[in-house]
Order: sequence, then C-alpha cells, then structure tokens
Amino acid sequence: MSNPSQSVMVVNCGSSSIKLALYSSEDSVTPCITALGQRLGSDSASLSIKGDVQFSSQGNLSHQEALSLFIEQCATFINNVVGIGHRVVHGGETFSESILLDTQTYDTLKTLNELAPLHNPINLMGIKLCEELLPNIPNVAVFDTAFHQTLAPEVYLYAVPYQWYTDYGVRRYGFHGTSFRYLTDAAAERLQRPKQDLNILIAHLGNGCSACAIRQGISVDTTMGLTPLEGLVMGTRSGDIGAGVLGHVAAINDHSITEMLATLNKESGLLGLSSGFSNDMRTLLQAESEGDISAARAIDVFCFRAARHLAALSVNLPSIDAIVFSGGIGEHSAQVRQRIMRHWQSALVTIDDELNEQHGNEIGQISRNEPTNSSNDQPKLPVILVIATDEEKMIAADTYQIISSSFSNHKARS
Ligand code: ADP
Repeated sequence: MSNPSQSVMVVNCGSSSIKLALYSSEDSVTPCITALGQRLGSDSASLSIKGDVQFSSQGNLSHQEALSLFIEQCATFINNVVGIGHRVVHGGETFSESILLDTQTYDTLKTLNELAPLHNPINLMGIKLCEELLPNIPNVAVFDTAFHQTLAPEVYLYAVPYQWYTDYGVRRYGFHGTSFRYLTDAAAERLQRPKQDLNILIAHLGNGCSACAIRQGISVDTTMGLTPLEGLVMGTRSGDIGAGVLGHVAAINDHSITEMLATLNKESGLLGLSSGFSNDMRTLLQAESEGDISAARAIDVFCFRAARHLAALSVNLPSIDAIVFSGGIGEHSAQVRQRIMRHWQSALVTIDDELNEQHGNEIGQISRNEPTNSSNDQPKLPVILVIATDEEKMIAADTYQIISSSFSNHKARS
C-alpha cells in the first residue's frame, strides 16, 4: 500500500459470528485492529475489539449491531478505509478471481446462493450491511473457490449423469482457496523459488480440513467438492463417504436426506469417531495420552485419511518440492504431522522428529533433506514445511489491489 493514511477493512461474516480486521498501509502484514463478534443473535452475544482500539461488549447483539458498534468504536480508523474485502465462500464457475462489487456482480453473486445455502447468503448479508453502514466505501468479494477454477474437467467432474453438471452445476469446486493461495506464495518465498516453478502438496488442517495439489503455482486438485463436506476427516464433518452408506442408515432410522446431511456435517468427523467426545484435536490428543480409546480411534482415522488423500493428490504432480502443513492442527501439532507422514512409508517422505518437535508451534522446515533449487535439477525428496496461513491478509491485499486499479482506471478515463 502506498499512501500511509489508507487502510482496508476485512469482513468474514458467519451465521452467528463476524470477524473484522483493519489493515493500515503502514503495516499491511499485521492488522492494526481485529474484532470478533460471537453468538450473534442470542442473549449471550459478545463483541471484542483488540489492537489499536480495545473494547468489549456483551448482551443481545445482532450482526448489524456488532458491525455498528465496531464502526463507532473505530471511527477514526474507519475514516481512512478505502475498501472493504469480504470473504465469500462460493464463487461457482462464474468467479475465478476476486471482484469489485457493483449492482451487476452482486446480482450474479445472489444466483450462487443455492450452491452454498449455509454460507453465501450470510456472506451477502455482510456485504449489504457494509453498503448500508458505510455507503461510500467500495466492497470487494474474495472467494474460497476461485483458486480452484484451474482444475481440469477430469478432476472436477463427478461420475454421475452429465446433465447434473450442465443443469445443476454439480461438480467439484474446492474451498480454502484463499489459504492455499497464501501458502503457495509463502512456500515459494521460503524455498526462494518462483511459484511458477513449484510443485507442492498443502494440507490445511483446522476445524475444516482440505488438501490441495499445486502444480507450477496453480491448483490442479483438491479434496473438497461441491460442498465443504467432501474429502478429509474434519472436526464435525465426515469427509468422503460412499453414498450407499446414506441410503443404508437412512432406511434403518427412517431419516430424511436433510437429517442425514446434518449428521454428516455436524455430528461426524472427529466428533462422531470419538463417540461424541470432542471435535477439537487438542482435547482429543490430551484424552488419548490419558488412555482414552475413542479419542485414539478418531485421531488414527484422521491421520490415515489425511495421508491417503495427500498421496492421491500427488498423482497430479511431476515431482513434489514441498509438503506444507497449515491450519490450527497442521501448524501446532507435531504429533499429528508425524502420524500423518508415518503412513507414507513407500514414498520415503519422512519428517525429522527433532525438527518436527522444535517446530511444534512455529513455521519452518521439519525434514532434513535439502530443497531442490530449480525445476531443472534432479527432483529431490520433498521438504516438509509448517507455515501459518493468513487468509485475512490475502483478502486485504486483493482488496487494496482491486481498489487501487479501479481508482487508476477511473482516473485514466476522466
Ligand atoms: P478454523 O478452521 O475454525 O479456523 P483452526 O485453524 O483454528 O480452526 O483449527 C482448530 C483446530 O486446531 C482444533 O481442532 C484445535 O484443537 C486444533 N489445535 C489448535 N492448537 C493445537 C495444538 N497445540 N495441538 C493440537 N491441535 C491444536
């Protein structure tokens, strides 16, 4: 960012939460203010603001009230905001990059609601609220799916009647794209190679988990699909499951598809495998160390399935320069990283235990092998990296870039 007085606001609007951040041009890496509104719409709602403004409030707050309070408390900073970047989960096939929102793009975005009924309408509500409360500031949409629009048809098509794709948009879209884009840049920087040269596998392991194969800087395969339910085992989501299982259990319990999907989204994954004990990896690791068998079972399945998916993604890569771990679990749990990589016996991809422990909570390399220096070198064994992801920073960067270029285009035309 060039003008030191300018800043960008980032909005991530969820069903009962809102995350906000302000990035100033003087430090576009770390936000000067962050805020979290939680349990919005209930009596136990709260808003907490940290950084250059400190504030907290509890009571019954709606999304609109939380945002209004944030604007009021941070008024002097908001005056410098030149653009607002919104996380939007689904961009369908329409949006392959971040966009400046106007009436036309907003209307197009609305047509995508049915692809992500749990997420997109809420994201759009965040955009509308900003338009109402900060009417003179332009809004930018940054999509979780956009980075994966480079997938080839053989990767994104399901083997179902083709008409489901043409008529209903049924295909694999992939998510966590903003995180994968950030991590690709960060890995390139770390390995001191242009990203166009790099082939990497990334595991983003948080509450939601997905993995991605990046060939020469571009997403060529990923584990999530039409919805974020597909792929790896997650906190409460099942990940991949044969459709036959649904029919079988639904028939026994006389459950509807809606009920079955609720179970797969909210009561499965680590939570389901641990017989309802916890969806939280830290809690499960602790319980396992105290002898809890159901916690051990959940972690074992999580790690095996992550390894299997990473290995499957590698078929799309001519070589693997790096494997990157990120997300709350990938960044902080040396044990989970080690247990995932232990499954890769045949590929000789090994974590160094000592380095892995050292990087229990910080970014860095956790294998001993040297990175390949250029794409012309003989491929070496992949280096294994831990990198903290930063989706908000990526949204802020996109927003600033889009606002700056629209401003220059406007000036050039006038
Ligand atoms: P989200 O996907 O909601 O952004 P995070 O990326 O913060 O979530 O990841 C949350 C997950 O990370 C939880 O399962 C949590 O237990 C796990 N986690 C965080 N710190 C640790 C840790 N030190 N060891 C193991 N797991 C951890």
